[in-house]
Amino acid sequence: MRLILLGPPGAGKGTQAAGIVDRYNIPHISTGDIFRKNIKEGTELGRKAKSFMDQGLLVPDDLVVEIVEDRLKEDDCKNGFLLDGFPRTVYQAEALDKVLEKMNSVLDRVINVSVDKEILIDRAVGRRICKECGATYHIQFNPPAAADVCDKCGGPLYQRADDNEETVTKRIEVYLNETQPLIDYYKQKGTIVTIDGQQSIDKVFQEIIAALGA
Ligand code: ADP
Ligand code: ADP
Ligand code: ZN
Repeated sequence: MRLILLGPPGAGKGTQAAGIVDRYNIPHISTGDIFRKNIKEGTELGRKAKSFMDQGLLVPDDLVVEIVEDRLKEDDCKNGFLLDGFPRTVYQAEALDKVLEKMNSVLDRVINVSVDKEILIDRAVGRRICKECGATYHIQFNPPAAADVCDKCGGPLYQRADDNEETVTKRIEVYLNETQPLIDYYKQKGTIVTIDGQQSIDKVFQEIIAALGA
């Protein structure tokens, strides 16, 4: 299964990705996670990406495409993958098409998770992430059993530096300008399915699984 999860910041991509990769036994490739890991480790890539991410802007296409291309060549992607947060521009989508073509591979589905703008800010600002395992929570909509402690591993929860109202607003604007055009891009290819992301986490998951045909 070769999949893309498309949607604005806070739509629930990461949350749904966790269940999807579990079910289909494919790697979860989140470009945002890759950048955050590099920032934490103090790599050159991390240093380059940080200034863009802090402002809510996209990291330059060339940097992103190279990382994804390398990642897709790894052995664990042979039977499929789930791309989360990539592509984010038409340039990236075209580059991905070329990479897949070179690998004699094709996309099976693009899952577009649709959520109204007004809801996205609350979702992103209330988001908390486990420092140890990366599990995603929401202080209101999906709280852990004990405040600030991960249900799965007991790790501490933190808030992403870019999950403040000002930066989220900017990220939504960037999404509308740069990423939303991908919906039409994939409509023309006939691979996209849109899911209403304003339902419960479980319901969204059920609809994604149904759309994937099992
Ligand atoms: P994305 O990866 O698209 O930016 P996340 O999966 O991190 O989004 O979700 C953003 C926030 O919204 C998280 O705090 C998450 O717990 C919460 N969330 C995700 N899906 C739903 C949903 N269907 N209903 C309510 N809150 C949700
Ligand atoms: P969200 O889904 O909440 O927007 P991500 O973790 O996917 O968050 O992305 C966080 C930030 O990382 C983005 O605002 C952007 O700066 C950078 N980023 C992630 N993926 C890409 C990409 N494909 N192209 C450019 N920048 C990216
Ligand atoms: Zn955890």
